[in-house]
Amino acid sequence: MLNAGGLVGLPTETVYGLAARADIDVAVASIFRAKGRPTGHPLILHISDIADLDRYAHNVPSSALTLAQQCWPGPLTLLLHKTSAVSFLVTGGRETVAIRIPANECARQIIDQCGHALAAPSANLFGHVSPTTAKHVHQDLGDKVDLIVDDGNCTIGVESTIVDFTTDQPQLLRPGGFPAEDLESIIDQPIIMPSGESRAPGMLNSHYAPKCTVVLVHTIAEAKRALSEYDDARILDHWDNCPLYAASLYTQMRQADADGMTAIIAVLPDKSGLGLAIRDRLNKASLP
Ligand code: AMP
Ligand code: MG
Repeated sequence: MLNAGGLVGLPTETVYGLAARADIDVAVASIFRAKGRPTGHPLILHISDIADLDRYAHNVPSSALTLAQQCWPGPLTLLLHKTSAVSFLVTGGRETVAIRIPANECARQIIDQCGHALAAPSANLFGHVSPTTAKHVHQDLGDKVDLIVDDGNCTIGVESTIVDFTTDQPQLLRPGGFPAEDLESIIDQPIIMPSGESRAPGMLNSHYAPKCTVVLVHTIAEAKRALSEYDDARILDHWDNCPLYAASLYTQMRQADADGMTAIIAVLPDKSGLGLAIRDRLNKASLP
């Protein structure tokens, strides 16, 4: 299906992807159409073997290579200088390309058998909550994909961490499934917060949003008080366990909408580890 230029819902450890062969322009264009995603929002290239990195990126700094060697397969995306093998359609016209190797075995086998990188954003409608089950993909894009590969629930549940290695100092473009402090200790170098205008187009302020209101609080006591202010509201589970919180976050958001809730009350975890990514997604989900 992929080699014929089709669109396939693909499981990864972070969220389900909407995959197409990155070297087939019409297939890549259909990703944007299916999602309703603006074409300036670049896609992540998914590869199955670190030996293919050179095919798609050049002048890879040694610290980026160290992370690739130690963290892949895994929820880490590296932003690098692209080679001519990467179409500008994938990068939204940029000279940089975002690349990762997913930890899902099934996804890697599919990429491997295609013999070319797959471009894959999250398999949800633009702006909506990311999918962490095959059923979520079907709900958003069932009539627009050729096939959905069902490999159960995503184990991480939030998108990959994106680190930009095309700048003087590595920058954290998106907190995600790989804790930034763990990356810093591997390369023994700080990963700084980007300043100025967003360098990760597609990281809009309002994003990952369910239909219901998302209320942010800092403690469970506050959450219980907030609960009484809404008719049909619920507190998100697992606020005290970040891996479980991340793994269930998008399912809980989608379930709240399916159950007709008016609000969900989310206790913000602290900023360490996976907490940073969860806070980022909750903040974006809470904006109108
Ligand atoms: P998604 O696949 O939905 O998680 O979105 C991928 C995100 O990766 C985009 O929205 C951007 O934030 C980021 N990204 C991908 N490629 C680039 C690039 N060349 N330059 C900057 N950011 C990128
Ligand atoms: Mg997305």
